[in-house]
Amino acid sequence: MNRHMTRYKEWLEKEGEKEGLKIKVIFVKDGYKAEARAGGEMRISESLFCPPFEEKERNAVGIHELAHLKFNHPTEKRNKELQRGLFALLIAIPLIIFWSMVFRLLDIKNLILILMVVFESCAFLVILCVSQPSLYYSRIREIEADLYAKKRGFGKALASYIKKYEELKGKSLTRRVKNWLWSTHPDSDKRIRYLEDC
Ligand SMILES: [Zn+2]
Repeated sequence: MNRHMTRYKEWLEKEGEKEGLKIKVIFVKDGYKAEARAGGEMRISESLFCPPFEEKERNAVGIHELAHLKFNHPTEKRNKELQRGLFALLIAIPLIIFWSMVFRLLDIKNLILILMVVFESCAFLVILCVSQPSLYYSRIREIEADLYAKKRGFGKALASYIKKYEELKGKSLTRRVKNWLWSTHPDSDKRIRYLEDC
């Protein structure tokens, strides 16, 4: 851990104390991001301490993650995911029973293969549909954390971090499709706009 990282860890943990939170900062090797977890753990990528990222940007990211802990977002997320899993199961089981009955009635050969295809497609559709409300709430939580960072004077620095993050990640087709179907965050351009807006 270099001196920038030690200073950052101390600063963020102090910022947490001001909000009555006990934060544990952990540095990780992969990615260019930060993640707050239930229980006060905050994972920060070491790459945020290298160019193109600057101090004010990683501070902004830290404050955004602090907001997630302050508003208890990681715990809410875990509970929502549990509910989502149970709900998916509730929809998937009758669907599988239905298809099994149809195949039995039609006396179709190679039943296992067909069942697998049907199960996979049903499971994908169910998960996709069931995910949408929780992804919607996830995006609301991101906006809440962004607005907290903005209120603390980190709006422009956070917008600058998002721009650099997007440039590094690129706009591949897979990433665009994934963002369109599964995004836990609001659209980056939209975030940049409201963060930079005075
Ligand atoms: Zn966030």
